[in-house]
Order: sequence, then structure tokens, then C-alpha cells
Amino acid sequence: KPRILDGKRTANAITAEVREAVEREGLTPGLAVVLVGDDPASQVYVRNKGRRAKACGFLSRQYDLPATTTQAELLALVESLNGDSKIHGILVQLPLPAQIDADCVIQAIAPDKDVDGFHYVNVGRLVTGAIGAALLPCTPKGVMHLIEQALGPDLSGKRAVVIGRSNIVGKPMASLLLAHNATVTVIHSRTPSPAEICRQADIVVAAVGVPGLVTAEWVKPGAVVIDVGINRVEDDDGSAQLVGDVDFEVVAPLASAITPVPGGVGPMTIAMLMHNTLQAARRQVAVST
Ligand code: NAD
Repeated sequence: KPRILDGKRTANAITAEVREAVEREGLTPGLAVVLVGDDPASQVYVRNKGRRAKACGFLSRQYDLPATTTQAELLALVESLNGDSKIHGILVQLPLPAQIDADCVIQAIAPDKDVDGFHYVNVGRLVTGAIGAALLPCTPKGVMHLIEQALGPDLSGKRAVVIGRSNIVGKPMASLLLAHNATVTVIHSRTPSPAEICRQADIVVAAVGVPGLVTAEWVKPGAVVIDVGINRVEDDDGSAQLVGDVDFEVVAPLASAITPVPGGVGPMTIAMLMHNTLQAARRQVAVST
């Protein structure tokens, strides 16, 4: 029987630890979340992040800007948050409206307040293996936490396959696995015979956005399978359902450990945002005293 890696429970334990650290250390980490426009999914994400930040004992600020906000206006807000000593973490919710250059905005965030881990300085730290100094992107960091539960932190001798090469999940995931000594292969939309390659893996991380892509033929018996995908599909009766990139029913019996969707990687992402904000606050307080 596979071990089900319970992301919800782990995420709750991590947020409890963050809260305890905040109380013990007498810190008030400040998290600013900026939302531009009124995308309903983004509104939900931002609200959840704010709630979780408050539950951790953080100062939580939300900035709601209209969909017509200009790049200059958004950059001015980021600049003022960079200089605000009460704020240790800045997150600009993506996607941004078309008139705004998202990359330019992200690169304007002070790297040590970049709690999403998307600034080139943090990407560079990760890729060069300076993971202690980096603020790591939340989803890969959460995935690594779950992998450590199954296999421990040292992945020497393990083959890992990451499916997907996005900048927010696939690529940083591959770098993080490398930093933990795994032997890493990345599969993407232009890869021939992906199932054959994936079947060699001791660790599979699927971050694609294709429901049920990973089937039994993709998975070596005993592998650890992490499903990052969050896909909204319609059930036979027409009701909406969330499914991952892994066909859980057929893959779970093969795996030694596997994450469910929902309740796997999703809750870990937000817990890691809290952990990053605590880390950022600790460093900024240490520098200023
Ligand atoms: P993306 O669309 O930016 O990237 C998808 C990647 O998959 C691309 O690199 C593409 O090359 C690859 N791909 C597409 N079709 C493929 C195929 N048939 N075979 C192999 N590779 C293929 O997506 P993303 O932002 O990386 O997100 C991936 C999934 O993870 C989505 O379902 C998203 O909703 C989910 N996600 C979840 C969390 C979380 O917190 N759990 C966070 C971010 C993303």
C-alpha cells in the first residue's frame, strides 16, 4: 500500500511552527500582497494568503489595485514597499493585466523581500546551489519537503524526473533536486517517448497541467510520485472537480508514496510562503540591528 503524503496536515504543522517561532522570537513578519484587477481565482488565492499570514501572527497587508493600473503606478507601490521597514515580504499576484510587464515588476522587488523566489538574484542563488541564501519558490520548496518525508534530504543515487519546464515550477524544481544530489531529467512538451524516460525514475514530479497524463506505463514500481497539477475538469454529472496530472487510481498502487489532489502540494505552497516570509523577516531584522 502506498504512503499517502498528506500535504494538508504537513502544511498545518509548518504554519504552527512558524507561528511558534514568531512568538518565541518576538518578531512581526510583514507580508504585503498586491492584487491588480479582479480575476476571481487570484482573489481567492490572495485572500487565503492573507488569512494564513494572520494565523501565523504576521502583519498582513493587501493592496487591491484596479485592472487599469499602469506599470508606473505598480512600480511606485513596489518601490514604497521595498522601503517600508514593517514589510519583509512582497508578493505581486500573477497574472497581471496585459498593459503591465510582469517580469519588470518582479525584478523591481528587493531580492530579500521576494518571498515568491522569482527574482533573478534568488533564481541565481538556487541554480548555483546557494540554497541557504536563496528565497526558494514556494511550490518546489513544498514539493521538496514532501519528498524529504518519504526519502530524507539526501537524494544521492536517486533518479528524478520532472515533467514540465515552467519558470515557477519545473525549472526551479529540477535545480532544487540537483542541489539535493538527485540525478535529474526534465521532460517537456517536445520530449519524445516521455513515458519511457519517466519509467526510469525513483522520484516523479508532474507539473504539466494535463489531467491524468501520468499513467501506469510512466511509473516504475516503488517510485515516489508528486503531483503538482491542479486541473478543473467536469465530472460525468457535469459538476466541477479538481484533478492532478497523475491518474491517481492506476498509479497509486504502483507507488511507494504519492500525493493526492487536492490536499497534496497545493496546501504546501502557501505554507512555504509563510516560511519564506519568516525567513525574510529574520534576515532583515538581523541586518538592521
Ligand atoms: P505551465 O503551463 O507554465 O507549464 C507546463 C509545462 O508542461 C510546460 O513546460 C510544458 O512544456 C509541459 N508540457 C505540456 N504538455 C506536456 C506533455 N504532454 N508532456 C510533457 N510535458 C508537457 O504550467 P505551470 O505553471 O508549471 O503549472 C503546471 C501545473 O501545476 C498546472 O496544473 C498548475 O495549475 C499547477 N500548479 C500548481 C501549484 C500548486 O500550488 N500546487 C502551483 C503552480 C502550478
